[in-house]
Amino acid sequence: MNDWKRHGIPGRRFTTQIWIALIVGAFVASAAQALSAHAHFGPSNPFYAPSKLPFHAPPFNRIKDSDYQPAIDAGIARQNAEITVIANNPAPPTFENTLVALEKSGQLLDRVMEAFNCVTGANTDPELQKVQAYEAPRLAAAQDAIYLNTKLFARVKKIYEERASLHLDPESLRLVEYDYKEFVHNGANLSDADKARLKKLNEEDSSLSNTFMTKLLAATKAGAYSTTDPAALTGLSAAQMADARQAAGERKQKGWVLPLQNTTQQPDLTYLTNRATRQALFEDSWNRAERGDANDTRATIARLAQLRAQKAALLGFPNFAAWDLTDQMAKTPQAAEHFLDALVPAATAKAASEAKEIQALIDKQHGGFKLEPWDWEFYSEQVRKAKYDLDESEIKPYFELNNVLQNGVFYAAHELYGITFKERKELPVYQPDVRVFEVFDADGKPLALFYCDYFKRDNKNGGAWMDSLVTQSKLLGQLPVVYNVANFQKPAPGQPALLSYDDVTTMFHEFGHALHGMFADTKYPSLSGTQTPRDFVEFPSQFNEHWALYPAVFNHYARNYKTGAPMPAELVAKIRKAQTFNQGYELTELLSAAELDLQWHTLPVSAPLQNPDTFETEALRKTHLLISYVPPRYRSTYFLHIWANGYAAGYYAYLWTEMLDDDAFQWFEDHGGLTRANGDRFRRMVLSRGNTEDLAKMYSDWLGAQPSIEPMLKFRGLKETSGAK
Ligand SMILES: [Zn+2]
Repeated sequence: MNDWKRHGIPGRRFTTQIWIALIVGAFVASAAQALSAHAHFGPSNPFYAPSKLPFHAPPFNRIKDSDYQPAIDAGIARQNAEITVIANNPAPPTFENTLVALEKSGQLLDRVMEAFNCVTGANTDPELQKVQAYEAPRLAAAQDAIYLNTKLFARVKKIYEERASLHLDPESLRLVEYDYKEFVHNGANLSDADKARLKKLNEEDSSLSNTFMTKLLAATKAGAYSTTDPAALTGLSAAQMADARQAAGERKQKGWVLPLQNTTQQPDLTYLTNRATRQALFEDSWNRAERGDANDTRATIARLAQLRAQKAALLGFPNFAAWDLTDQMAKTPQAAEHFLDALVPAATAKAASEAKEIQALIDKQHGGFKLEPWDWEFYSEQVRKAKYDLDESEIKPYFELNNVLQNGVFYAAHELYGITFKERKELPVYQPDVRVFEVFDADGKPLALFYCDYFKRDNKNGGAWMDSLVTQSKLLGQLPVVYNVANFQKPAPGQPALLSYDDVTTMFHEFGHALHGMFADTKYPSLSGTQTPRDFVEFPSQFNEHWALYPAVFNHYARNYKTGAPMPAELVAKIRKAQTFNQGYELTELLSAAELDLQWHTLPVSAPLQNPDTFETEALRKTHLLISYVPPRYRSTYFLHIWANGYAAGYYAYLWTEMLDDDAFQWFEDHGGLTRANGDRFRRMVLSRGNTEDLAKMYSDWLGAQPSIEPMLKFRGLKETSGAK
């Protein structure tokens, strides 16, 4: 699974996950205090006026690190002044003088923050990190200044209450509802006493989230498996042994250390032939945060679950998930649970058949023991080698980066949507590896700029992501400027960049987000492009991944970089088949984690403080997921996503968007596949619409039906089919 897309609009509204990271950074970086709060901001600053480059592209050739902080400070000050004017307007509130005015506010801050987020994510340095730490609390306060402004909320509320008689167009009506919900979601409707209570609960939540992160980090470090007996590690390669030796050295320990990964299953379990070692490593992982010591997270998460229920009750909801899902596509925890429950039978049946295959292998090789979770990775690797093996070195010559980009990613977009691309080497970039393409619509009109920054650097965050440098908005007269970042291995000078199939999928994925941003055709920046809920935002990206293996696309780009020969059919068949390996297990462990998340966050305020162990067992039993050989991908006590990373009540979204992308691709297959007619219809009804209408309605209007889980089961190989793929 690829990285979650990072969300855009940094000035007026921003999603929590980026800012949590920044705020945490602020607490640790005391050096930030050294920065001046009154650096000069004048016409010589490159952010002072809108960029004169095509598409208002950031003038990276003129931007110095020292330009960011004064521009951000000035941007915050200007936005605060703009908000004050809107809130204190003596004229009665109207859609224009309040909500449209809000949409127009914060443009300087947006301009600088979009560039700043780009460079701090993809090309950071100590000076930028200092600015980041310094500005994080100021940016959080700037957001509070909007949502806690009672005069402003009174205006928004009045417009909301009168919305039916305002004769607004549908997008404007959506903006009224969206803005009102955002304010209410943040507690604007509460009495002053309840606002104070909410503030206290929010502070406790963020402080406990921090405690959880600190404890988990220490617990994960302390939980590492260590040994002084090399025989215990039989099966590891020389390179893996060297890593384990080095990990021990870093901890000033003798022997070898296997550090823990975030997930329950550990990659080393694939190779360790010694069963007792496997069990010990697995148990180190499973019990990492339940040792009764200072790093035990049980009390922390029990209180977090309780206080979130209290927060929801204060805001008038039966539980935290009900509050959190109001602005999501699923809307209610019942809808999300119903969806997960429907996947359980097929997932667990497939996991059971995979377990049977593994048990047979165990019986044949040793006999006498029952498959346990610490055996799964080891024996499923043998199944993989026997039935699904892919030799990377055989495949990579067919996936040369530029060929994949131009003849695969761009080609699929051209066939579907008619768009074309022209490299613009004269536009400034923030690092020499970055490439810029101008994107033209089918009628030849300029549509967008697309930047790509694919190679790994040690000053770049891990993973891959998309974001915007300029957000499309007809109100602001802005065309989209978007970028993709990844971490592919950079080849030696003069050598071709050869990708793995995973890398190829990542390129299609991130470009799917890019299309969502580039096709945006909305009036208001708050509703534009990828500004959609987390249970929708991964849909266009995952949908775009499907074209990577689509024969007409695949055959167009998967060519040997030396000879131009197409990939041999048996190799293609292997890639295709590998997509269904171990899917029963993988879906089941994801479902278990998603169900745990929802169970924790649907606790009512009346529920007592929970014992996490009995709660977890009961939650899994209730959802038919208490399966000895498939533990949840994350146990409650080390489930970072839901306790500290902004995905509380939202882990289901990974699977929900997978349902949508498979379902949508099935529609394409049923209607002639890769055609302009199909692409244009999808663009018009979905990709261009951002968050301008109810997303469930947008989707079902396009499909002509409700989304179904059947295609998802088919593509994961959990269902017998006679069809292609
Ligand atoms: Zn994504």
